[in-house]
Amino acid sequence: MNNKSLMNSQNQTGPKQPDFSSKEISLLNERFEDGHPDEVLKWSYDTFGPRVVLGTGFGPSGIFLIHRIYKLGLKIPVFYLDTNLLFDETYQLKGRIEEQFNLSIIRLTPELSLDEQADQFGEELWNQNPDKCCEIRKVAPLRKYLADKKGWVTGLRRSQSPTRSQTPILIQDPANNVLKINPLAAWGDDQIWDYIHNHNLPYNPLHDDGFPSVGCIPCTSPVLDGENVRNGRWRGTGKLECGIHLPDLSVNESSDNNSKN
Ligand code: SF4
Repeated sequence: MNNKSLMNSQNQTGPKQPDFSSKEISLLNERFEDGHPDEVLKWSYDTFGPRVVLGTGFGPSGIFLIHRIYKLGLKIPVFYLDTNLLFDETYQLKGRIEEQFNLSIIRLTPELSLDEQADQFGEELWNQNPDKCCEIRKVAPLRKYLADKKGWVTGLRRSQSPTRSQTPILIQDPANNVLKINPLAAWGDDQIWDYIHNHNLPYNPLHDDGFPSVGCIPCTSPVLDGENVRNGRWRGTGKLECGIHLPDLSVNESSDNNSKN
């Protein structure tokens, strides 16, 4: 097999090749930094078509992005990770959004049911090993779904937590081999909430009960005055991220394990 055939063979069966160099991403980030998120969303769809997708946990950032995609008429598929452990309020919100925006939100599920997970790893794995639980119920389904995608739009914002304070608008995601697109990276809480209220958009009622960040039931608690918005997630473990937003899961596992010691 000559070199060209070898390269073609690798391209067909091996990992996807990055579409953009670091330099190109850096220039795009400079261009987008002070612009409106719409500019990023339109560029994403113009660039990747239906191979760019939006993931949401139905937080305020996700609601904003779904609304902008709807208003712009972009056919960007929307998905969520159903761990089978979400709040009733979250499932109800999903239904409202689908109805209001005539949208069918793609449901990604883990390979293991909760019973199968308990059989294989023990009851309430989220208490014993939350990293493993998140890997099974979030990270693995996401990786499988993104395998044939090019771009992944998220609602990540720098103001959400120390782990997100350096979030760029565009960044290569080597774990999922996609371009990660964070149109709201520079936006603050007030901007998002003003938009939601001004447009009378639905949102999770748990946000009004002291839960600024809502995830799975066992790992979500209210935050206290002065705490960071994500301090209610995995309270007492030192864990701040489930692993889907870290480029290298091994780094996450290492730092999470360290923080629990
Ligand atoms: Fe499991 Fe908690 Fe992670 Fe949900 S957030 S997947 S319950 S460890």
